[in-house]
Amino acid sequence: MLQLKKDDKVMVIGGKDKGKSGKIKRVIHAKERVVVEKLNLVKKHTKPGMDQTQGGIIEKEASIHRSNVMLFCDKCDKPVRCGVRKMGDNRTVRYCKQCEELFDK
Ligand SMILES: [Zn+2]
Repeated sequence: MLQLKKDDKVMVIGGKDKGKSGKIKRVIHAKERVVVEKLNLVKKHTKPGMDQTQGGIIEKEASIHRSNVMLFCDKCDKPVRCGVRKMGDNRTVRYCKQCEELFDK
């Protein structure tokens, strides 16, 4: 379903972090959302005590819907559409539709 995986480099193409890129930390398949390192940060208030924190405001990554991110191709140096192709050994790999570079090696 999702053509996105942990550690993929993606660029945000919608929302407040549009134009920023980062690495996928987590994929939430059920919701078709991804969590990208240091992007879409939201401030959360924490109370002191519970987990030895002092309380206050921490920044945490909120998930982004997959339609708002695109795989980033280092070779093209821009976000690209990816295709899926079956390899000889039956592995499915994703490739860049622009330059044919494989995302899965
Ligand atoms: Zn490319």
